[in-house]
Amino acid sequence: MATARHDYYELLGVSRDASDAEIKKAFRRLARQLHPDVSEEADAEERFRDVSEAYEVLSNSETRQLYDRYGHAGLRGGGFRPTHVDLGNLGDLFSAFFGDDLFGGAAARAARGADVAAEVEIELVEAAKGATRSVPYDVAVTCGVCTGSGVEPGTPVETCETCGGSGRVQQISRSLFGEFVRQSACPRCGGSGRFVTHPCEACEGAGRTLDRRQLEVEIPPGIHDGQRIRLTGEGHAGALGGRAGDVYVLVRVLPDSRFVREGNDVFSTADLTMTQAALGATVTVETLDGPVELEFGPGTQPGEIRVLRGKGMPVLQGFGRGDQRVLVGVAVPRHLTDEQRRLLDEFERHSSEQTYRADESFFEKLKSAFR
Ligand SMILES: [Zn+2]
Ligand SMILES: [Zn+2]
Repeated sequence: MATARHDYYELLGVSRDASDAEIKKAFRRLARQLHPDVSEEADAEERFRDVSEAYEVLSNSETRQLYDRYGHAGLRGGGFRPTHVDLGNLGDLFSAFFGDDLFGGAAARAARGADVAAEVEIELVEAAKGATRSVPYDVAVTCGVCTGSGVEPGTPVETCETCGGSGRVQQISRSLFGEFVRQSACPRCGGSGRFVTHPCEACEGAGRTLDRRQLEVEIPPGIHDGQRIRLTGEGHAGALGGRAGDVYVLVRVLPDSRFVREGNDVFSTADLTMTQAALGATVTVETLDGPVELEFGPGTQPGEIRVLRGKGMPVLQGFGRGDQRVLVGVAVPRHLTDEQRRLLDEFERHSSEQTYRADESFFEKLKSAFR
């Protein structure tokens, strides 16, 4: 929507005393340039809406007078609200406006190609490092035999009798721009104005064929399950000069039995035996970068958490990595031999409250793990 910063005459590139015909001509030229199906510019859609609004105001003598005298404030005061431009119905809007097609020719209309959805699966470890994947997909491309016309080369094309070749049939219609003769696509020829007697054999008249393509997709480190990567312009071919659609690659990050991911942090467990926990031990722990040796002191308790700073997932499109939190589990023996039972009985006789007394520092350590 145009703001007070935009002058409607400047938007259309016409002088303040421009005639209605000049204004219409300027809008037509800009609309053709900025049409979102055609323009490659990132802000084309926004500019298109601005230009449409300018045209809407200046093409009506009442709103143009208001604007000339009092500017944008005058329009607001007069209750003017720009029409919401539904980009999906632009083609119809233009044919209604100009009585012919915006893009010239017999109702031939450029259309942006459709998007393609593809999917890849990667391991969590790959998601941590980033990966390149070859993604196969089927895409509609312009038929090379008929160059998109759908007509078998060397065969005649007849003019459609229903619409006389215009591709359009007329009906009276009302819109926010006022009442006008609205044209819609001819039902017999589908708006092409032509009747193809011999459809192209290669594409069966569609003008496009399916092609199996392979794309190398760079998956950035730190990607999350369910995120999509957009590859601009790699999708289905557009019709009649419209730009190609995009490819959206859905990335599935497979679960890893060793880790639980939470945001950029990962959780895992380290299992110590009862005696390892009591006596202290060095235990191999899996990380995203491979196994590491972790040293646990005597009296290690179940439920302790060891924080491995910077061993988590990388921050997507950022810096640094999350942490890995290793939860300590302690295995209590389930099947004792007579000898083991005797030894543990003896151990118990030598134990006192002192044996199991917590260090004061233990809770501090536990607290710091969650910080
Ligand atoms: Zn063909
Ligand atoms: Zn027709």
